[in-house]
Amino acid sequence: MTATKISYATCPLCEATCGLEIETRGNEILSIRGDTQDVFSRGYICPKAYSLKELNEDRDCIREPMVRRGEQWMKASWDDAFAEVERGITPILQQYGRDALAIYVGNPNAHNLASLVYLPVLLHAAGTHNFFSASTVDQMPKHVSAGLMFGTALSIPVPDLERTEYLLLLGANPLVSNGSLMTAPDMRGRIRKLCQRGGKVVVIDPYRTRTAQEADEHHFIRPGFDAHFLFALVHTLFAENLAAPGKLSEHIAGLEQVQALAQHFPPERVAAICGIEEDTILRIAHELAASPRAAVYGRIGTCTQSFGTLVSWLVDVLNVLTGNLDREGGTMFTRAAAGAHNTAGMPGKGRGARLGRWKSRVRGLPEVFGELPVACMAEEIETPGEGQVKALITLAGNPALSTPNSHRLQRSLGMLEFMVSVDIYLNETTRYANVILPPPPSLARSHYDLALYQLAVHNVAHYSPPVLEREPGTLDEWEIFLRLAGILAGQGFDADVRLIDDRSVTTLIQREIATPGSRIEGRDTGELLEALKPRRGPERMLDFMLRSGPYGDRFGTQDGLILAILEAHPHGVDLGPLQPRIPEVLRTPSGKIELAPQPMLSDVERLRISLEHNFGRDHAQMLLIGRRDLRSNNSWMHNLHVLTKGKDRCTLHIHPDDAAHLALSNGEIACIASGEDTVEIPVEITDAIMPGVVSIPHGWGHNLSGTNMRIASEHAGVSANILTRAEDVDPLSGNAVLNGVSVKIQKVLATSLSDAS
Ligand code: SF4
Repeated sequence: MTATKISYATCPLCEATCGLEIETRGNEILSIRGDTQDVFSRGYICPKAYSLKELNEDRDCIREPMVRRGEQWMKASWDDAFAEVERGITPILQQYGRDALAIYVGNPNAHNLASLVYLPVLLHAAGTHNFFSASTVDQMPKHVSAGLMFGTALSIPVPDLERTEYLLLLGANPLVSNGSLMTAPDMRGRIRKLCQRGGKVVVIDPYRTRTAQEADEHHFIRPGFDAHFLFALVHTLFAENLAAPGKLSEHIAGLEQVQALAQHFPPERVAAICGIEEDTILRIAHELAASPRAAVYGRIGTCTQSFGTLVSWLVDVLNVLTGNLDREGGTMFTRAAAGAHNTAGMPGKGRGARLGRWKSRVRGLPEVFGELPVACMAEEIETPGEGQVKALITLAGNPALSTPNSHRLQRSLGMLEFMVSVDIYLNETTRYANVILPPPPSLARSHYDLALYQLAVHNVAHYSPPVLEREPGTLDEWEIFLRLAGILAGQGFDADVRLIDDRSVTTLIQREIATPGSRIEGRDTGELLEALKPRRGPERMLDFMLRSGPYGDRFGTQDGLILAILEAHPHGVDLGPLQPRIPEVLRTPSGKIELAPQPMLSDVERLRISLEHNFGRDHAQMLLIGRRDLRSNNSWMHNLHVLTKGKDRCTLHIHPDDAAHLALSNGEIACIASGEDTVEIPVEITDAIMPGVVSIPHGWGHNLSGTNMRIASEHAGVSANILTRAEDVDPLSGNAVLNGVSVKIQKVLATSLSDAS
């Protein structure tokens, strides 16, 4: 009998990057436990980690390339599948130009080393302006505010949780999400420790989340009014002479402009519309100012609203004004070992965020960090004319469920002339594809969290080799990406992946050695390539980034990190607590923290006008928000029994007062109608939700034909996104507005239920 083996790996499922101890026999997973020696997670894992075994064994997962012939899916060899892609896409590019191809990238790519290092190669080969991703569904506002204030999209200060004494959370549920745009395994343990050392946690949210239940205080806030609330805190700090940036003062530009704008948002005025009393606003402002180690953090609920970028900006404005930015126990910048733009080039200055370099064809929405808002993808496919999208490549994404007005997007996917999906499932999106190219199971590929370690609450680096052997005849993601790149670059479906890889790493090296301030500026390309041998693929790229990164050995000129060191440390390498990084971290053209970037100043007028609206209370007209469940991870993990068993999670949460007014009881079916569409969903009455607000979790709606996710379809639920409007975006980031959606609710009468059946 084959011997068993213990491997250590980083969980690839979410941003927390927990260490796993995995026992295998051959390619069979016997057990999954938390790695107690992991330098970051110390043995913590959540229930999703156990599902990796079921995911690996899921019979619905696609293991071989699939080509669609009419309504039939046929298995194909890799060569035949790529030849089909070439036959489908090349004539479209030749006839209509590069913008006729769109690319959509889903969230799992953020946890995938191969995707992260080879996506730029694929995009370069595609040469299209129509690049979309899940980032404009739920996080782009934070990237835009970080880019404008600090110079790069991932210069996002994270709470220094190990030392914070006061934590103000808005629209975030880290006990369930395990942190987002803040990499922090075991959030429950970290928050409990914060409380044990006498600290305080305050949660502002229209829902009393699990995080709120553990917090010292929770306050309901009307969805979409976080920016007003935060501005009222800023107003108080200035009005009472509590604004004290301290050592940051010499690094700030725009303080006076923020002070002038804050005058429009006195607490008494904001209190009347946001649902939080004036005294509470004042007290929170006083507490923030008084705490020597405080952090304000906002997440998904603050991004998926019409003022998303303003909220994201005001979170950091508050951290600056209270002197907590870049201070131990406040919010700090991670110093990542590889891939961070805020450790590259000249310290302290850079070209800053460049936004709006092109616009979407139909609606004229500006580009953000190289991508267009996904809210406009459907219209780019539907609307005839020059530049119309005719072909689409999706990479581990399910926009048919996860993007606004998803019914419309589904209809538009059906209009495409050709579509390719790199995916493991025949799901609500990939059912429209002509070719599906399956990557290997996640545990059959190596792992390094290139993006998420840039947001970690402790400096760490952890590389894990594949736990499972790749089955013969499978391709890794990077090989799939490069073969697609070969087709798009006109090199044919059978282009030599090794040559494209060689060119890609050479380009990376040449760019780095030509960058002023680089740690390897002026070095010889050939010498560095030689030093990276015999590695190839993602490992060669990663080794290069580590060696030229802030802890690197600079290719032999000093002691420092190289990939071999990470390979020798299967539990990760601890690079120490967060350290102050201002001004070195800044990459703005001015070399300052831009506290009042012009786009923010312009958008504040829209916020000010919103103060004048009359927000009356109408029990039939409610505001819809999403919610997060520990056992759910967007749409793609609903095909696992271990995560979907038990009570129905896709229910409408409604406050008892509202339920009484609408004569709704637990378990009854309610009809939810927005201007876009309607859904019917079981009611779950709970006083955890704010009166006037209802909640449906996202990522459900697995009742569509043509998919092959049997467990998911047995727990179909409804898609909240068919209710949301593609027209509603945060103007600065293009992020979809998925929270605070106005809906009407009615009881579904038994007769109509039986009619429907
Ligand atoms: S919290 Fe995230 S990274 Fe940690 S075990 Fe759960 S899914 Fe994996």
